[in-house]
Amino acid sequence: INQNIINFGAGPAKLPPPVLLQAQQELLSYSGFGISVLEMSHRSPEFTQIINKAEHLLRELLNIPDNYKVMFLQGGASGQFSGIALNLMGLKEDNCADYIVTGTWSAKAAKEAEKYGKVNIVHPKMDSYTKIPEPSSWNLNPAASYVYYCCNETVHGVEYNFMPETNGVTLVSDMSSNFLSRPVDVSKFGLIYAGAQKNVGCAGVTVVIVRDDLIGHAQKECPIILDYKVQAEMNSLYNTPPCFSIYIMCLVLEWIKKSGGAAAMEALNKRKSDLVYDVIDSSNGFYVCPVDEACRSRMNIPFRVGKKEGDDALEKEFLNGASKRGMISLKGHRSVGGIRASLYNAVTLQDTEALAKYMKEFLKEHQ
Ligand code: PMP
Repeated sequence: INQNIINFGAGPAKLPPPVLLQAQQELLSYSGFGISVLEMSHRSPEFTQIINKAEHLLRELLNIPDNYKVMFLQGGASGQFSGIALNLMGLKEDNCADYIVTGTWSAKAAKEAEKYGKVNIVHPKMDSYTKIPEPSSWNLNPAASYVYYCCNETVHGVEYNFMPETNGVTLVSDMSSNFLSRPVDVSKFGLIYAGAQKNVGCAGVTVVIVRDDLIGHAQKECPIILDYKVQAEMNSLYNTPPCFSIYIMCLVLEWIKKSGGAAAMEALNKRKSDLVYDVIDSSNGFYVCPVDEACRSRMNIPFRVGKKEGDDALEKEFLNGASKRGMISLKGHRSVGGIRASLYNAVTLQDTEALAKYMKEFLKEHQ
């Protein structure tokens, strides 16, 4: 493993080196079995053990109550934009849902849901996604089947550090980019889902945690592979699941457990993000993070270099200098530009210190 490269990518993202090493060691022969996980039947006792272990570890790490099902599905997190609407929109007779739109990903989810029912965006569209509108201004509909939000907007770096109050309406959360980065009280949610390729593994599998009573309400047009009742009853094995991605997730979950669990991840992630925000905040406006301080993400830190709207030449130079130091994938999302540092669980304190050090040096050179 190349220790000289630090991957600050937004996803797929850095994996813990011990996970990659174990996967390498076991690639040709899983656990002395003589074949690879890549070649194994998804109904073999060996794979059954892997998928059961992944579920067990998730239940343990997040304290998932018994009345919740855990599913490992395909179609990415985007597949759940449709899956959620198709399964949950019909929970109540009005066939409608509330969406809190605070960035690209919740906007996409809302747009997809419009195909399957009525969508109420609970606040006026924002010019830029840099804050969470004051909850008292949300126009929540008590007849909604569910309230949907994205807990961490990966592109814009906007993260909720509170749980939306829905007055009893089922709460649904996209936690793709902050899943297992801190403890969460699952019992307060109807459904939580996350693509694996940021905090808990590689692309190919999406975790869906859903309360039992929300299962079995799918619209009749719902594709069978997205139908929670079918997938829950068949332990995610209606069809061939993404076996290798589930195996990698299992290794990452073991690594998180060994590292101290969700609470340890939270403490580490706070230290890491503080390091970068401190450099930004003490740069006298040389680095600018556009996000409201109250909802700055610990996972994805977007910032501009040189001035508020970014200085293209300086930002290019910043990225070039970073890549010379082995720091890669720091370019901001194409829709917002600038720089974005993603500090998921596998990014270490040392990795982040290297970035903060470089930012300070670059500032000194250009001030
Ligand atoms: N939600 C969030 C918060 C994301 O960051 C992403 C991917 N970056 C998605 C959904 C979509 O994920 P996928 O590419 O797995 O469909």
